Amino acid sequence: MVNFKNSLYYAKNMSLKQTDLDENVVFVICAHSDDQIFGPGGTVAKYAKEGKQIYTIIFSYGEGSHPWFQKHYTIKARVKEALSADKFIGGSGVLFLGLQESKFLEQYSARKIHAKMRRLLLKYKPKRIFTHSMDDPLPDHRALHKRLIETLDKIKYPGEVYAFDVWTIFNFKKRHYVQIAVDISDTFKTKVAALRLFKSQAAARFSLTWSVYVKAWINGKKNKVRYAEVFYKIR
Ligand SMILES: [Zn+2]
Repeated sequence: MVNFKNSLYYAKNMSLKQTDLDENVVFVICAHSDDQIFGPGGTVAKYAKEGKQIYTIIFSYGEGSHPWFQKHYTIKARVKEALSADKFIGGSGVLFLGLQESKFLEQYSARKIHAKMRRLLLKYKPKRIFTHSMDDPLPDHRALHKRLIETLDKIKYPGEVYAFDVWTIFNFKKRHYVQIAVDISDTFKTKVAALRLFKSQAAARFSLTWSVYVKAWINGKKNKVRYAEVFYKIR
């Protein structure tokens, strides 16, 4: 018979060691169903091509606060799009947490997301995590960042954590962090094509696609490649 109390105690004290981490597992943790593509889409597609497993955790279904999200699209449509995009870039799955936008800070505690996140980390043992940056212009992105980092620090997550920006082109605040550039020349097309799968955001896509190009091009130029994505190593 399993001693429930003991097994809980065990779980509570279980932590990840550097040597436990799986080099081939990557987590992308974001607020809305298309952030994972707008942000690190090219990098993720590149990792998938290399045989890595990419798991995407999305906090909300995106009911409205994203400036480009159209309200009349159903949750079902958003989930479908996210799954198609994930499949397209070679991801290994998407998990929606179903939190309400603008309520991440409260609901993270109320819905026990800390424990859930911890369980996922212990189960999949990702070596790398990509998430929103702390000075992202969108409050939901910053709220997610804050809570996630609290969880990672609490469990002393030993892996690498990288911050991405979804649509800011210039960002000078994170200077003290190490910046890494990933050459996405081979997967930039995949990123753009994956963004096209988000049909519910079609109108906004027109106003944002240019920034995806400009950003990848500027970052590429700085790093002497055609297209690049840049991240800040925050842990
Ligand atoms: Zn977002």
